[in-house]
Amino acid sequence: PASSMEELVSLCKRRGFIFQGSEIYGGLQGFYDYGPLGVELKNNIKAAWWRSNVYERDDMEGLDSSIIMHRMVLRHSGHEATFADPMVDNKKNNKRYRLDHLVKDQKADVIERVAQGIGEDAANFPAVVAALVAQPAKASEVLKAAGVRDAFSGEVGDWTEPKPFNMMFKTTIGPVADEESYGYLRPETAQGIFTNFKNVVDSTSRRLPFGIAQIGKAFRNEITPRNFIFRVRELEQMEIEFFCVPGTDEQWHEHWLEKRLSWWEAQGVPRSKIALLDVPPEDLAHYSKRTYDLMYDYPTLGFEEIEGIANRSDYDLGSHTKSQAELNLVATVTENNDSIAKLTIPHPETNKPVVPFVIEPSAGVDRALLAVLSEAFTKETLENGSERIVLKLRPHLAPIKVAVIPLARNREEITTVAKAIKAELQGLGLGRVLYEDSGNIGKAYRRHDEVGTPYCVTVDFDTLGLGGGEGKTSDPALKDTVTVRDRDTLAQTRVKISELAGWIREKLN
Ligand code: ATP
Repeated sequence: PASSMEELVSLCKRRGFIFQGSEIYGGLQGFYDYGPLGVELKNNIKAAWWRSNVYERDDMEGLDSSIIMHRMVLRHSGHEATFADPMVDNKKNNKRYRLDHLVKDQKADVIERVAQGIGEDAANFPAVVAALVAQPAKASEVLKAAGVRDAFSGEVGDWTEPKPFNMMFKTTIGPVADEESYGYLRPETAQGIFTNFKNVVDSTSRRLPFGIAQIGKAFRNEITPRNFIFRVRELEQMEIEFFCVPGTDEQWHEHWLEKRLSWWEAQGVPRSKIALLDVPPEDLAHYSKRTYDLMYDYPTLGFEEIEGIANRSDYDLGSHTKSQAELNLVATVTENNDSIAKLTIPHPETNKPVVPFVIEPSAGVDRALLAVLSEAFTKETLENGSERIVLKLRPHLAPIKVAVIPLARNREEITTVAKAIKAELQGLGLGRVLYEDSGNIGKAYRRHDEVGTPYCVTVDFDTLGLGGGEGKTSDPALKDTVTVRDRDTLAQTRVKISELAGWIREKLN
């Protein structure tokens, strides 16, 4: 695995996985662009998720809902009122910080003084933050007295009272900018699933239990985006809302925890690197009955959330439904006089309308990609003493499945065969196959090690029965064969061209 974030950032830029957004104008904080290899890796991760959670199950439907949503959706979901992080400003330089990030980044003795000042135990960090938020006037004094330093200037700051900062991006819809002509960029894909619940049920005849899966962009105006693609303002999520009969929710919660851990394992992110956090009741989001956070051990950052699996009870459908009063909701919801739909489904036993409970496994694509890269990153010392970087990605995730390399790019007999092989392998539908004639063979191997290409196929003079290229005679047994180099073992095998497609297909599956 990678030993630091810098190692990954540098590989990503060097090889074309990830670039800073709007870079040629100085960059835009919290936005990243996925380059030629990044887009392949990302697509492969999403495809693996979709395969496992939609195609391989018989109780799931897919969805792709719009990104900009009616302001009423985000009002009744609770996001307008509560989707906020506490923020403080440093009056000395007008820099703005997310309160918990600011405090967490201080030296241990400073954190200790903040905790004491606000009357909490430093070991219970969320409680310290909660107390600072609850007593804003005192918080401002405590931060200053404890010597909380500005991350930017390094000086002890003069801090404002913490106040909530709503993270939703708001945008004007249509030509008239009146009071009501605005919508929100969704801060999670989930709300599109809840608002389509009735449509999906009516069009598919689904009965409980079943789920709806969606992959898509979400937007959060993070106060302090940082740590590369770990915390960004434009992110992508892979979310499932699994609807079940109230009372069976706890079992389904356990089911999904197990499923998701084994999915991560199949992507090369082992359980041993994921710590399970059973979120304490006082830290739960407003909608949650119970939440498991999967915390992956990121290089440099340590354990941070890669996926949340929440039991959202009947909160969401209950919040978005009309006729709330007659539905015996378990969750506390605010009154809804705007919705025109009743979000119920027949109970499978009694046939009476019921608002299902929801289990939500919600993973970030960007954080997944970072974890997958980090696990695959390997530095090896070879037998000859040289060092190589190799991405040991699972083959189904590799951006390039096979590179086909003509040993001499100016010999038409060789390039013609190499191009034909590329076309044949591309036709297998395994993903990208690259025709690679951009340099010497050693450099090509090094590059493909670094981007995780499982196999390099080389067409040489022996393939054509032409000898070594410098007047050497050729072994007739090698005619119509190519060299296949294995990324992980470095073994080079001669394979007949006529058998190559089958050979590759078998290895890559
Ligand atoms: P955090 O506490 O780290 O801000 P969160 O608890 O707000 O995350 P959720 O609302 O549970 O996150 O979102 C579900 C998933 O979406 C997270 O597990 C994470 O993988 C991803 N995610 C959330 N916010 C971001 C972000 N700003 N950048 C990248 N991924 C994110």
